[in-house]
Amino acid sequence: MDYVNSVLDLIGNTPLVRLDKSLDDLGDSPLVLAKIEYLNPGGSVKDRIATRMIEAAEASGELQPGGTIVEPTSGNTGVGLAMVAQQKGYKCVFVCPDKVSEDKRNVLKAYGAEVVVCPTAVAPEHPDSYYNVSDRLASQPGAWKPDQYSNPNNPRSHYETTGPEIWKQTDGRITHFVAGVGTGGTISGIGRFLKEQNPDVKVIGADPAGSVYSGGTGRPYLVEGVGEDFWPDCYDRDVADRIIEVADRDSFAYTRRLAREEALLVGGSSGMAAYAAKQLAHELAGTPEGENAVIVVLLPDSGRGYLTKVFNDEWLASYGFPVGESGPEQTVGEV
Ligand code: PMP
Repeated sequence: MDYVNSVLDLIGNTPLVRLDKSLDDLGDSPLVLAKIEYLNPGGSVKDRIATRMIEAAEASGELQPGGTIVEPTSGNTGVGLAMVAQQKGYKCVFVCPDKVSEDKRNVLKAYGAEVVVCPTAVAPEHPDSYYNVSDRLASQPGAWKPDQYSNPNNPRSHYETTGPEIWKQTDGRITHFVAGVGTGGTISGIGRFLKEQNPDVKVIGADPAGSVYSGGTGRPYLVEGVGEDFWPDCYDRDVADRIIEVADRDSFAYTRRLAREEALLVGGSSGMAAYAAKQLAHELAGTPEGENAVIVVLLPDSGRGYLTKVFNDEWLASYGFPVGESGPEQTVGEV
């Protein structure tokens, strides 16, 4: 018989898929390979950090049997934490602002987590604010706050799993690694591991225009999960050789191309990272460095969570972005 005892055993070991048509006549080199993180059981790369952060807190005693995990998140990290917590018998409370969609809250509740919704329209110092409520809950006895922005086990999970997987899957032939930057955990952990194996590996961050990593001040951008208006502790400022800034319109257009041309239904931050990888591939094509180049780009999550945004023509058009091609839809009237 071939089975695992828990979905937690299915985290990691995601495949690399070669990008092809969406690279626009790139030719045979460089080779561009996408690491498909939506194949993790919680649907994103964040399953990896959730496992590692929880295991480390168990080992240090910060998280005790019957304890409660409190984190102000409604995104992929929440799903990962909810999944791991449920399997290990911990309670989970997520604090999120009321602008977070009901669908996202329902995913967390489906795993058995509790969701506390805070009003957006109050000042940060108000007792009901997102910040105050999560701090208050996290200071209760038995509560533990992972804090993905400063928890060293976030980058460490990538240093210990994702990085070695990529090195092995490419037989050590990877020359460039591209990833979007949010907390910085992915790029810092994988980048450090790869550079330790081969100092010539180039690490490239992809960042939404306006975010601090590409020199902005945090000006609003629409792609979710990446870009910051502050410098998180998890981001190793020495790891990236280069940051490629990507405009929202390019991120979204390329996200849609990945679905239509590569059959990869991924989120907007994946489109952003893959767009940067494509730009890099075209810069290298025809140069001696490009000859044997192997570019690996990490695609963090699935497009399922963005069907009403990136994959919705009206939503895109409302921001003035081109809708590009998507399959036709017919409404059938009277039968
Ligand atoms: N894409 C998505 C959809 C994410 O949720 C995140 C995590 N915030 C990232 C990319 C960036 O990963 P990291 O936090 O490791 O930098």
